[in-house]
Amino acid sequence: MAKKETAKAAKTKKTAAKKTTEKKATATAKKTTKAAKEKVKEIKTKPAVKPEKIDTTVISGDTDLSVEQRLSNLYKLQSILSEIDKIKTLRGELPLEVQDLEDEVAGLQTRIQNFQLDGKDIDTAIGQQRIKITDANALVTKYQEQLDNVRNNREFDNLSKEIVYQGLEIELAEKKIKEFTAQSKVIAEEIVKSKALLEERKADLKAKKAELNEIVSETKIQEEQLREKAKKLETTIELRLLTAFKRIRKSARNGLAVVYIQRDACGGCFNKIPPQRQLDIKLRKKTIVCEHCGRILIDPQLAGIE
Ligand SMILES: [Zn+2]
Repeated sequence: MAKKETAKAAKTKKTAAKKTTEKKATATAKKTTKAAKEKVKEIKTKPAVKPEKIDTTVISGDTDLSVEQRLSNLYKLQSILSEIDKIKTLRGELPLEVQDLEDEVAGLQTRIQNFQLDGKDIDTAIGQQRIKITDANALVTKYQEQLDNVRNNREFDNLSKEIVYQGLEIELAEKKIKEFTAQSKVIAEEIVKSKALLEERKADLKAKKAELNEIVSETKIQEEQLREKAKKLETTIELRLLTAFKRIRKSARNGLAVVYIQRDACGGCFNKIPPQRQLDIKLRKKTIVCEHCGRILIDPQLAGIE
């Protein structure tokens, strides 16, 4: 439950942050570079991220960063985010499996409760039929006694008919008791089966939870450190570029928004890059995106390759 709330809170925070980012990005785009720089500065001084956690040495002079430095930082940021993705992959389907098992356990508990309620209803119904039999038997005894003192044929016929009728009532009640008992047996069997399954699932859940907790605790510190690093780096990257980066990363299947040139081609979609464009990329004077997949292109050296 607590986990769910935390996730929800994080999501809300994320959405709010995203909205702010988009809004600011639009505003920044409309103003001059100087104004934009001031805007970025202003955003960075706002405690969107916990202020005590920001490394101020990185922030200072960040607006003076060259395109090259920004691209380099963006590539570093991507590497960190990819590492976080790897941790998440390690956890894999476990969080979902735990959730599924929790749902199944709750479902089985409800099923057992419903069966038990049905069983009680049937017991009550059987009890009612037994009372009917007792009552009918009492009437039969009473009518048989009256038969000894009949005054005429009509009275005799009426009493005889009543006795037959009560006999039929008893037969009917006995038939119903038989049916209800059979139903009750089926329900009892279902309860036993469901209880066994419940115990099994509870054991599965316990094991999965332990497994997940182990992985989470093993990678928690590592993940926190990576997130911290990512936050610091994000403050050094121009907001518009960061927004674009996040958008591309989301739509890219491998989570790569920044790729380097590989054999004269885009490292993301492998489409050839014209020589003049490759030259521009190597100059590192502006942000260049692949005209086929939209990924941000850098030269291999900037990515630390070669
Ligand atoms: Zn491409």
